[in-house]
Amino acid sequence: PCTEYDKAYFEAYAHIGIHEEMIKDHVRTTTYRAAIMQYQDSIVGKVVMDVGCGTGILAIFCALAGARRVYAVDASEIAFQASEIVRSNNLSDKIVVLHGRVEDINIEEMVDVIISEWMGYLLLYESMLPSIIFARDKWLKPDGLILPSHATLYMAPITHNDRYRDSIDFWRNVYGIDMSAMLPLAKQCAFEEPCVETITGENVLTWPSPVVRVDCYAVMAEELESVTSKYRFTSMMQARLHGFAFWFDVEFDGPRNVSSTEHLLLPETSSWDATSHTYNSSKKRTKSTETIVLSTAPEDAPTHWQQTLIYFYDPIEVRKDQCIEGSITLSQSKENARFLNIRLEYSSGGRTFVKETVMR
Ligand code: SAH
Repeated sequence: PCTEYDKAYFEAYAHIGIHEEMIKDHVRTTTYRAAIMQYQDSIVGKVVMDVGCGTGILAIFCALAGARRVYAVDASEIAFQASEIVRSNNLSDKIVVLHGRVEDINIEEMVDVIISEWMGYLLLYESMLPSIIFARDKWLKPDGLILPSHATLYMAPITHNDRYRDSIDFWRNVYGIDMSAMLPLAKQCAFEEPCVETITGENVLTWPSPVVRVDCYAVMAEELESVTSKYRFTSMMQARLHGFAFWFDVEFDGPRNVSSTEHLLLPETSSWDATSHTYNSSKKRTKSTETIVLSTAPEDAPTHWQQTLIYFYDPIEVRKDQCIEGSITLSQSKENARFLNIRLEYSSGGRTFVKETVMR
């Protein structure tokens, strides 16, 4: 059922700013386009469903790549703009825009390909993935293609002295006045909730650990209700541990019935070359069929997702080679399934802490 929270969620997607941000995210948009071109052979003459089409950009990429029909589905009123865009680009014979939840719409045929850009902060925030699962189970042919095919959420311990200085230590001396009385409030306001911000490799204390890996061909909605993962890091340096950073990547891998080795052996087809000149000329592609990855890692080109940081109220001093271990649980909020409850347990130097927070 469509809850009042879903309504608010779809209303948020009726605003131009959110679509502008996504489309201007060059890494995001060109990686999707490159993936569409890599799988052009599976798209030409086929039926595609774009789950959550927004302005219709991915649906249009698929139509230009040769899809016979694209069902572009969005429950937000942005679907009206998508219809107009499709019409003014003379693609109405190929793209059918459907204004409604993918859970509620009806079409006359099964689809060969599902494409969607469903990833939220911490990968799972917004809980849109269950809608892709729903579409997969209802509308995707058994040997169909899902773009992207896999997603992995990572975490790593971080140090961020500048951030702590700007937001917290700042209050210790304000124009010569001791405002330390502000410290508890400052910590709460700055660090109670997850922060979406950009860090660099220098903030990261050691190699990341995967929290969850999703196979979009196989994952079930119930598995996403609550995800728990244990981690164990060894700090590569002496530093103040300020919290953890999270980021994700998604992979565009082939249909599951084609093994990855077989896929790697597929020769480059000439149709790819032909279209790359007319359609994809701005993006240089190598001649290999390596898996395309959209990464939001701190060491990679920035995206609008940035990284998500969960800060501690007080940093912990760690030595080089000191162990940092614990567990993380991400669960859909009972109050609003779009929210994400986060429970982070961490131990270092013999002390254990728990931080519970909500991404809303
Ligand atoms: N594909 C577009 C927009 C991605 S944002 C692009 O790449 O730019 C995700 C979109 O999915 C939003 O517009 C949102 O309204 C839509 N959406 C989320 N859940 C949906 C559902 N269950 N049914 C239909 N649309 C959905």
